[in-house]
Amino acid sequence: MRINLFIDNTDVETDEYTEVRDPGRLDVVVGHVAKGTVQDVDRAVKAAHQAFQSWRKTPLDKRISILLKVADRLESEASSIAEVVSKENGMLLNATKAELSMAITAIRNLADLAGDSFEPRVLEDETGWISVEKKPMGVIAAIVPWNAPMVLTMQKLAPAVVTGNTLVFKPSPFAPMGVTVALKKVAEYFPSGVVNVIHGDGEVGAALTTHPLVRKISFTGGGATAKHVMKAAADSLKGIHFELGGNDPAVILDDANLNVVLPKIVTGAFRRTGQFCYAIKRVYIPQRMYEDAFEKVCELVNNYKIGHQLDENATMGPLNNRQQYENIKELKERIRNSSAKMVELGEKLDPAGWEDGYYLQPAVVRDVEPDHEIVTCEQFGPVLPLIPYRTEEEVIQMVNDSEYGLGSSIWSSDFDRAVQLARQVESGMTFINGAGQTPLGYKYIPFGGVKQSGIGRENSEMIFDEYTETHGINYHKTTE
Ligand code: NAD
Repeated sequence: MRINLFIDNTDVETDEYTEVRDPGRLDVVVGHVAKGTVQDVDRAVKAAHQAFQSWRKTPLDKRISILLKVADRLESEASSIAEVVSKENGMLLNATKAELSMAITAIRNLADLAGDSFEPRVLEDETGWISVEKKPMGVIAAIVPWNAPMVLTMQKLAPAVVTGNTLVFKPSPFAPMGVTVALKKVAEYFPSGVVNVIHGDGEVGAALTTHPLVRKISFTGGGATAKHVMKAAADSLKGIHFELGGNDPAVILDDANLNVVLPKIVTGAFRRTGQFCYAIKRVYIPQRMYEDAFEKVCELVNNYKIGHQLDENATMGPLNNRQQYENIKELKERIRNSSAKMVELGEKLDPAGWEDGYYLQPAVVRDVEPDHEIVTCEQFGPVLPLIPYRTEEEVIQMVNDSEYGLGSSIWSSDFDRAVQLARQVESGMTFINGAGQTPLGYKYIPFGGVKQSGIGRENSEMIFDEYTETHGINYHKTTE
């Protein structure tokens, strides 16, 4: 598969192409992706700027109806797009299909919420008349990572276009193909230049984040990159919206039934081989339940079958890229050399081909100090620490002693107790007895993190504020 840039609804070839390899079979090249230049970025941003002049005037109901067509089109193409994504980013095919269905739901949810969100607020008294109105911002630079590229792309596309903005996307070099294939299909429904896609390295990223015609940067990725982006945005004082990493704690209360909650916690921690922004990354267990919980977690983790992402028997795929793989391998080595105890579990489906992809066994870490690296970092891989605690006060202190604050979860059979504890957690979202949102939560809970896990929120009505400026108009009544 050969993927070009996509500027002003036109495929643009470049002088250089980069290979994309299958992370589960490194000898397999799954595609070639065009490497853009600073000049390509300039063309893409100018095309988006040009398109903005008329797209902003398109009536809201028309923009909503286009979005609904986009959702239908993605639904009809979901299974072929999912295969492209899984091949390039290593996520199990079922996980990618579920991600696409989440992306489609996000578009429909946002189309529905948009219908009620932009009415001007008009007030009048004897001195004057006011109207507070929402206006689109202009060109949005949308930068997405590799781990859930489809849903993250669509969660940016839908609110940005429905509010009248235009976009230049920069997908990750570790998952560039599925996003481009999907965006090219959906771009057919928009006027030329509303949706553009560029590819490339840090130079291209920097050109996009410093371009004077870009009004806002919507970035999902790691905190280290976000700091570069924030600095780049400073020169022209662009708006920023950051969805960043997390170190999500799961707190099991002493009234929880371990047989019920642990399967959900393990799935919530190891889905996507642990490469999920709001995967559970540390589990706090009452001291008296610790041994029992440890044994049960190990039993569950041992059921994983690690293999190629397209192998129907696999329940855990490879890591996405060499850097990720090396990071987790080195982290495991440091854990082995520390006082904590780590057990590596799961079944290798193809032991002979183990070294041909970025495969690692899932691991559970016990007897770990609360300040151990595996507890304090965002591991972003299949290694889960279990930490004992004695009192609720102690566990809340340990949970909040972090620079991260994306998601978190409480596991309990007592609604009031769980909600009361959830309110004390410093995070953007707290899930009770689940490792993510229910359908209602996915639509109405603003998604995002506090502290260094993000700035701003995605989803819900709140996202429309991210992509609009407020314009106040005030008429003075005179007596003459
Ligand atoms: P990353 O920060 O390495 O890359 C993210 C994107 O930024 C990629 O498209 C990359 O090419 C681009 N980029 C790199 N350098 C750039 C620069 N100088 N200027 C502009 N863009 C640049 O992150 P990643 O490894 O792709 O993704 C993993 C991280 O993303 C994890 O920390 C994870 O938690 C986080 N994440 C967060 C969410 C969320 O919604 N909060 C969702 C998914 C992933």
